[in-house]
Amino acid sequence: MLSWFAKRRRDLPWRRTRDPYHIWLSEIMLQQTRVAAVIPYYERFLENFPDVRALARANIDRVLASWSGLGYYSRARNLQRAAKEIVARHEGDFPREYEAALALPGIGRYTSAAVLSIAYGAPHAVLDGNVARVLARLGALHGELRAPATWRKLEATAQNLLVRNAPGDWNQAMMELGATVCTPKSPRCGECPVAKSCRALELGIAGELPSARKKRATVKVTLAAAVLLDPRGRTMLMRPRGEEGVLFSRLWQFPALETTGVDAGAALAGHMHEKFGVALNASFTPLATARHAVTFRNIRLEPFLVRVARLPCTKGARVVPLGQLRRMSVSNATQKIATAAIAHEEKPVSGARGKSIS
Ligand code: SF4
Repeated sequence: MLSWFAKRRRDLPWRRTRDPYHIWLSEIMLQQTRVAAVIPYYERFLENFPDVRALARANIDRVLASWSGLGYYSRARNLQRAAKEIVARHEGDFPREYEAALALPGIGRYTSAAVLSIAYGAPHAVLDGNVARVLARLGALHGELRAPATWRKLEATAQNLLVRNAPGDWNQAMMELGATVCTPKSPRCGECPVAKSCRALELGIAGELPSARKKRATVKVTLAAAVLLDPRGRTMLMRPRGEEGVLFSRLWQFPALETTGVDAGAALAGHMHEKFGVALNASFTPLATARHAVTFRNIRLEPFLVRVARLPCTKGARVVPLGQLRRMSVSNATQKIATAAIAHEEKPVSGARGKSIS
């Protein structure tokens, strides 16, 4: 495995360093995101925040702006919270102990093991989806891999296999094998350095493992959003709260209401009157609808343009020129709504709802 990795490893920016801050950043960015998409963000983020101390003292809006487009913004928030703790409690050095790393915000067992093994050579095996798949095939293990008992068993197996004098390279080799050879569909067993030890290959069931995960059923949600617009072209944004916040990555958003989809405009008008004092006779002009997916939720965005003489004076609200939203760190859902409103303003379509945007 190690000699295969030495020859076949992809040259990635975070593999040219042992700096724990760089490795930690890459591991966080790579969660739920493809390698090719991460590279430019990783490089830009390090230009803006070259070390833990720079990240810890940065304004959170700047941090989120550097993350803008990568999604799952809680990762960026936790990254900065952890940077502050590292400065406050660990003198600016990423902790060397597994439990201390695990205690930092946003760092789970996988990330703790990855950073400590790669940066410090500490003997902790990683287990992520790629490694779990490789192990399941090597041992011809059936069943749901994410089931707690199975996952614990896989963790123990990964730890037993770990090469103690090269834990960082071993972990990366296992992940690389899963990402490039032992892929979810059609594993390339002919190129595999451990094919001789693979039980699934021997049994001819490599392609059938691991067993398919039970998917959570998709929930359809309709979200009506109000783009208030004053005569100066300014609009109002709010900080999301509760469940709604998840849909907008807990970033600034237009006032919105989850509806059943039946006359979303009327429901939104009532909500805007009750909550922000928007006149009941205000005109809610439908804008282009958009689709948006967040984990298991399939969201239909129904934005409305509402012209007001004056924006409501609401505690915690933020007033910004509508055109400026394109440059702000807001969620993709808010960007889609803003795009629909800006398109409407640039090319007004009276009365009818515009075409869908994606
Ligand atoms: S032989 Fe095939 S199934 Fe087994 S570990 Fe290698 S690539 Fe995966």
